[in-house]
Amino acid sequence: MDNLLIQSTHKQLQAANRILVVSHIRPDGDAVGSLLALGLALQSVGKDVQMVLSDGVPRDFRHLKGSDKVLTWPQGDFDYIAVVDCSDLERTGSALNGYSIPDLNIDHHPTNLNYARLNLVESDAVATAEMLSGYLPQFGLPITKPIAEALLTGLITDTIGFRTVNMTPKALRVAADLMETGVDLPALYQRTLLSRSLNAVRYWGVGLSKISANGRLVWTTLTLEDRQQVGYPGRDDADLINVLSTIEDTDIALILIEQTDERIKVSWRSKPGFDVSQIALNFGGGGHKTAAGAEIDGSLKEVQSKVLNMTQSLLSKSSN
Ligand code: 5GP
Ligand code: MN
Repeated sequence: MDNLLIQSTHKQLQAANRILVVSHIRPDGDAVGSLLALGLALQSVGKDVQMVLSDGVPRDFRHLKGSDKVLTWPQGDFDYIAVVDCSDLERTGSALNGYSIPDLNIDHHPTNLNYARLNLVESDAVATAEMLSGYLPQFGLPITKPIAEALLTGLITDTIGFRTVNMTPKALRVAADLMETGVDLPALYQRTLLSRSLNAVRYWGVGLSKISANGRLVWTTLTLEDRQQVGYPGRDDADLINVLSTIEDTDIALILIEQTDERIKVSWRSKPGFDVSQIALNFGGGGHKTAAGAEIDGSLKEVQSKVLNMTQSLLSKSSN
């Protein structure tokens, strides 16, 4: 990252007093981890910080220090607004309603729209948490054990345990440095990647029972009724997409998750060579080449048909 941009950010953060930090809706480990890491680090040097996620902190991440301080709505005025792990402003949900454009955008998505006054975007970073691990010391901020735990959570969730195709030696070195603060990595790994509720596994069962395949594409759907049936509390896929993407002889896996009668969340995962971020971007979403998502207006049936058509056409183009 350009040193001048880092220096400018450092100066701005030093001058700021009331700081708002936000991240994206349906927050994942990198959203929560990056938000907490920046928020806690700024608090530790005496800043008045509010951390906001419009969907709150999911149960899986509530053990992280500071997660009980995260609000779903900002309160009051701020002299500095930072957004982390968020490629466009719509994805902050209602967290910035009524506020001016953010001062800072720290993100690793190649589809980032550079919406802030100052944009620190590194698309070769495996997680926003990896970027922050380098930036915090450059901003004169400490990485204590709880901050390292938040950052490691971001690193291991976005890389699904260091196994996504964008993994780098740097990411492992950053993780090793964070571990030096005393974080119990195996325990964190178990808690965030392996252990899941019985309801979540039942929810997987419903999704897996409906799986469809066409050539090298597999997909399934999860409806509001499915969630009600098994008592799954979230409105996400409980990471079922990561199971679909392990199916051999497929190039693209996708999942459609009904949010309301008229709005569907779609997640794509692909093998290298199939850039699903472009499809997601076409539908107003974004992400990475091999992992992307979008929220699309329409009924499940309508959205499914459009999404499958566009994904099939990417598959045929790419395999020709
Ligand atoms: P997931 O499909 O697991 O929600 O997300 C996969 C990747 O796509 C993540 O990097 C995530 O941040 C991004 N992503 C998912 N949904 C959206 C969306 O609606 N808009 C944008 N811009 N990115 C998304
Ligand atoms: Mn991320």
